[in-house]
Amino acid sequence: MHLLETAYQKEYAHRRGGCSAVEYIDRFGLLGPHMTLGHGVWLNEKDIDRLAETGTCVCHNCSSNFRLRSGVAALNRLEAQGVYTGIGIDEAGINDDRDMLQEMRMVLRAHRVPGMDDSVPTAAQVFRMATSGGAKTTVFGETIGTLAVGRAADMVLMDWRQISYPYLDQEVPLLDAVLLRAKTEGVRGVVCDGEVIYADGKFTKVDRDGALKSLHDELQNALTDDEVDRRGLSKALLPHVKAFYANYIDPSRHEPFYKPSSRV
Ligand SMILES: [Zn+2]
Repeated sequence: MHLLETAYQKEYAHRRGGCSAVEYIDRFGLLGPHMTLGHGVWLNEKDIDRLAETGTCVCHNCSSNFRLRSGVAALNRLEAQGVYTGIGIDEAGINDDRDMLQEMRMVLRAHRVPGMDDSVPTAAQVFRMATSGGAKTTVFGETIGTLAVGRAADMVLMDWRQISYPYLDQEVPLLDAVLLRAKTEGVRGVVCDGEVIYADGKFTKVDRDGALKSLHDELQNALTDDEVDRRGLSKALLPHVKAFYANYIDPSRHEPFYKPSSRV
């Protein structure tokens, strides 16, 4: 379930239940390894401890959180406390192209707080989030996410030359190189559950060009009356929604972390 994606939701939980959203759903026994919380941007420290304690998973939607002004999730804290995390695209990636390779780089780079300690995500952590971590957030956790006997063979084959040309220092760990440099155009093949679904630049199960063309053709038509109505409704509703949430996020209620005047 989505939880605490926005600051509005955090405030809503307090008004509705007099507690945090995590404490609220905990009352109903909803936390545990069977539960994956989408976003979790506005978790507090106590919430995060509780997620770790119950084995609850979090799906980190990094791009979406940027794009929708949701905030920056406390990934370093989640990782430090041992919460199971995965990476989601949430249909709102930065480039509208569902590029998971770029999303991994985004996660790798978005949480780099200043300092010299290794408290920022490593390539290995991000890779784990994108593979076995992601698997854990689904009901297929025991059968996907790693390459092992008995598991579904889900593999992406990358062109090493795309990653290593024109130069790659020998000391760069392989995983770092893949995470930092792999691009979608370097993908040579994709195997899903042992079946080749992409090879030699072509999808084997889907007529990609045909699908895009029919999508394009269908969307050349004028909007239906229903679609026009809904667009109008959305515009008409906005001022009321704004009014409803007007005092949900009030920066003046919080002490600023840094007060410029106190330094003068
Ligand atoms: Zn979402």
